[in-house]
Amino acid sequence: MNIAETAYLNQIREQLVVRRQNLESALSKHETDQMLHLLQDVDQALAKLNDGNFGVCQNCHESIEVDRVMADPLVTFCLGCMTPGQQRALEHDLRTRCAHADGLAAA
Ligand SMILES: [Zn+2]
Repeated sequence: MNIAETAYLNQIREQLVVRRQNLESALSKHETDQMLHLLQDVDQALAKLNDGNFGVCQNCHESIEVDRVMADPLVTFCLGCMTPGQQRALEHDLRTRCAHADGLAAA
């Protein structure tokens, strides 16, 4: 593993640890199934980081696109293996995020 890759993985790990802390404090006040699921996903991602399996597609075992992993460390499938429904959700998500960014730029 080269230095750039280590730095990138450390960044992901920090993101996940922060997310985990936020989830835990939210869960201590109000517990929902969705949050518990999310906590499991975060724990799984952290376990994969420790095992060196992070960023690998669960279906085809190819590397997931780095920019997608950076945007959301919890992605578990590469673009090619996502279902059409997931792809549509992603497109929608990207569009709303862009719209939001435009709004910020205009303000
Ligand atoms: Zn795949």
